Amino acid sequence: MLMQLCDILRGHGARWGYLKRMAEFHGGAEALTMRRLAAMLRHAGRTVPFYRDRIPPSFAEEDAYHILHGLPLVSRRDINGARESFVSSEPGQHVRETPTGGTSGVPLWVLQDKDYVDWGAAGRHLFFSWLGWRPGDQILRVWGDHAALRRERASLRDRLAARVCRVRTVNGLLLSEENLREYIAVLHRVRAQFLEGYVHGLHRIALEMLKSGIRPPSSLRAVISTAGNLTPDIEDDLRRAFGVVIANRYGCREAADIAASCPEGRLHVNPFTHYVEILDDRGRLAPKGEGRIVLTLLTNRTMPLIRYDIGDVGDLKERTVCPCGRDWQTFRRVHGREASLLYRADGTIIDPVLFFPFMRILFRLLPVERYQVVQEDYHRFTFRAVLKDGATAEGPETDRGLDEIRQAVRMELGDDVEIAFDFPEEIPFAPSGKYFYALSKVAPPQS
Ligand SMILES: [Zn+2]
Repeated sequence: MLMQLCDILRGHGARWGYLKRMAEFHGGAEALTMRRLAAMLRHAGRTVPFYRDRIPPSFAEEDAYHILHGLPLVSRRDINGARESFVSSEPGQHVRETPTGGTSGVPLWVLQDKDYVDWGAAGRHLFFSWLGWRPGDQILRVWGDHAALRRERASLRDRLAARVCRVRTVNGLLLSEENLREYIAVLHRVRAQFLEGYVHGLHRIALEMLKSGIRPPSSLRAVISTAGNLTPDIEDDLRRAFGVVIANRYGCREAADIAASCPEGRLHVNPFTHYVEILDDRGRLAPKGEGRIVLTLLTNRTMPLIRYDIGDVGDLKERTVCPCGRDWQTFRRVHGREASLLYRADGTIIDPVLFFPFMRILFRLLPVERYQVVQEDYHRFTFRAVLKDGATAEGPETDRGLDEIRQAVRMELGDDVEIAFDFPEEIPFAPSGKYFYALSKVAPPQS
């Protein structure tokens, strides 16, 4: 297979072995996770300063869950405040630094290694395979494509990778009626078997198809929604438009894909890569009902994330065997981060995800604690950021950096766009208690 061969040549052959292990595994998830958790805790206790005095040097595998539940919760702020103490003295290979936390409003940089990347890729292949995917099937992805907004051509390497993996990407960051019609045409032209994308992009495509009475290509087998809240209403619109299985996938940049829909439509947590706890307001395990999602990553020995408060809310089912045969942890519901959609005067929808790269420039420039993008009117945006104690946004270097952000935004959204920066002491939460990382003060234009 071409895909496997390319991965082997790139030094990522391990992922296919991991995929095989995952695909052949069904029952005994709790014991599997316990073994992997014990190994990660021992590694962290031995090599990660934060855990050195918190995890005993030796313990029985059966005690892994008990030891885990006694460890402190870790937030983005905790990690940002003492990052080095969360890094292992025995890192994995090919470590890279990944900026995350776009949708939470709180920036975070994590170190991730090759093994983490390979487990993550294996997990994604596994989730796709539940929907009938085989290497070589055509995927159309509605994704963030900043190069397209800047009218730059993708690199040769990216174009080759897209060919080999049979992934065609269209830009989901700006959704005009013209774009939507084009994407529907591409869906037919490439005879996609799978359509994957940000929930808002998929939803708009679905609404356009319903409005114009266009049917999906007969090749289509499943639609996979990621990065956003797949509400029952949206799911219903997707089902009416596409008439195929609608799957959900839950993940984030700092922890890869956590859970995905099985063929029975249940959202299973991958027991090889993640362990999920649901905690109530007082930080106690909540056996029933909704609570904060706290995550332990069973991969990435370079910077273990243990009892990491991801900032989402969810609800786990009692552990039983699903009709699909898996006794894996299963979410009843997941509520991700909140954002309102932004609009241009011509009705084009701007997915707030578009602003993440600009925010990352800001994070490099200033010690940002929390941020929010506010759309004041169709052409004016304010980037609000709370800075850490004592920091100010002054000086020629900061001015140059902020100007760089303005220029970068204009390259993607047009020269008439104005960007203001505001550095308040606090950014208020919405009256509902939710935090919106993107907020629009304008109404969608009437078409
Ligand atoms: Zn299942």
